[in-house]
Amino acid sequence: MKALEIYKLLPKTNCKKCGHPTCLAFAMKLATGKVEVEACPDLDSGTKALLGGATRPPVRLVEVGVGERSVAVGEEFVLFRHEKTFYHPPGIMVQVSDTWPEERVRSIVETVRERVVHRVGMDLVLTGVAVRDESGSPDRFAETVALAGGGSALPLVLIASDPVSHEAALAVAGHYQPLVHAATEENWQDIVALAKRYGCPLAVRAADPAGLAVIARECADAGVSDLMLDPAPRSLRDYIAAATEIRRGAIGRTEPALGYPIFLDTTPLGETDAALAAGILKYAGIIVVPPLPSASVEAALTLRQNIYTDPQKPIQVTPGLYPVNEPGRGAPVLLTVNFSLTYFTLLGYLEASRIPSYLFVVDTEGLSVLTAVAGGKLTETLVADSLRNFRAPELVNHRLLIIPGYAAPLSGKIEDATGWKVMVGPRDAAELAGYLEKEWVV
Ligand code: SF4
Repeated sequence: MKALEIYKLLPKTNCKKCGHPTCLAFAMKLATGKVEVEACPDLDSGTKALLGGATRPPVRLVEVGVGERSVAVGEEFVLFRHEKTFYHPPGIMVQVSDTWPEERVRSIVETVRERVVHRVGMDLVLTGVAVRDESGSPDRFAETVALAGGGSALPLVLIASDPVSHEAALAVAGHYQPLVHAATEENWQDIVALAKRYGCPLAVRAADPAGLAVIARECADAGVSDLMLDPAPRSLRDYIAAATEIRRGAIGRTEPALGYPIFLDTTPLGETDAALAAGILKYAGIIVVPPLPSASVEAALTLRQNIYTDPQKPIQVTPGLYPVNEPGRGAPVLLTVNFSLTYFTLLGYLEASRIPSYLFVVDTEGLSVLTAVAGGKLTETLVADSLRNFRAPELVNHRLLIIPGYAAPLSGKIEDATGWKVMVGPRDAAELAGYLEKEWVV
């Protein structure tokens, strides 16, 4: 609902009881979801219900786990990433079975906890562990859950159809706030009672979105609102169709009972890499996968990072003059932009070359070299000001600046504005080491 439509429904007394200077200011915050409708005490219950339904996020925010490694998913507002952005990356949960030997479970939990992929200045990690009841023994299930959760601080998913197994597992791990999977048409009353008793989020499972909406409504009415929806897909095609229908229903607010994050278990689907990619691209909040090879982990974490960055705000590094390989006063100064991918790619090649140098990063608002030159964000004035601000003349005993090949059209202007002699470097960062070995003589 737009701010003006909300404003029309407010008492318009500007009493400031909500902490806002005017009712209009309150309406604008309410329209963007930054305040709750409850903050205005002068609204009657009918208007509160109307505004609450129209202004709360279309997909509920649900948290799994506790502490630093907990994961919050949902609270998304759009169908397509280019419309705005996606906010909460899906949790990737690696599955273990309660029939596996203890050592194997320990080793997988350890991998999930310790595996870090460093990319564009960020540390990317797997999310948690999903424990599956395959033994049929509540005690065995509870032991494996305790093994996975005990001391790992990782969020857990408990996958079992028998409420007795869940009861045993929650007795040892309920305080970690695991995701309980799953309430179905057959067992939902028992499972809901357990989720409610332990304050845990709950996944509901049905063969289609209409069935999911029915069970979700029943669970919410029974007092558990932190829900996730598992459409139980039998194929990737099934998943994409169901996930799209669920997200459409939620975003369009045509079916509020679909306004929860989606749960995807890739293990019955095969084609794990493809299923994982489909889940990341198509709306999954929690994705369960079998133990993955290292290359798959790297690919999935990279894809998740890419999809869940704001397409209108490229990832940036702080502008500055960065020493690489302990440069002395005769080291080359290499101009580049503050688009993270460009910076870290260059940095990787320079570090590997072992050539001491300065990476001179200017603020192009996160645009790549080519885009910054075309869009007028990389200019001779910016380069001159940045050289001065970062005190480049005090760090080196020469006045030679190597600029990227794609910035060649600016070479003359940069020379005029800075008084430094410009050398045009290669277009491809991979050629930089060879270029420096050949051309850099001071
Ligand atoms: Fe307006 Fe309600 Fe805020 Fe008072 S409390 S200023 S009536 S929005």
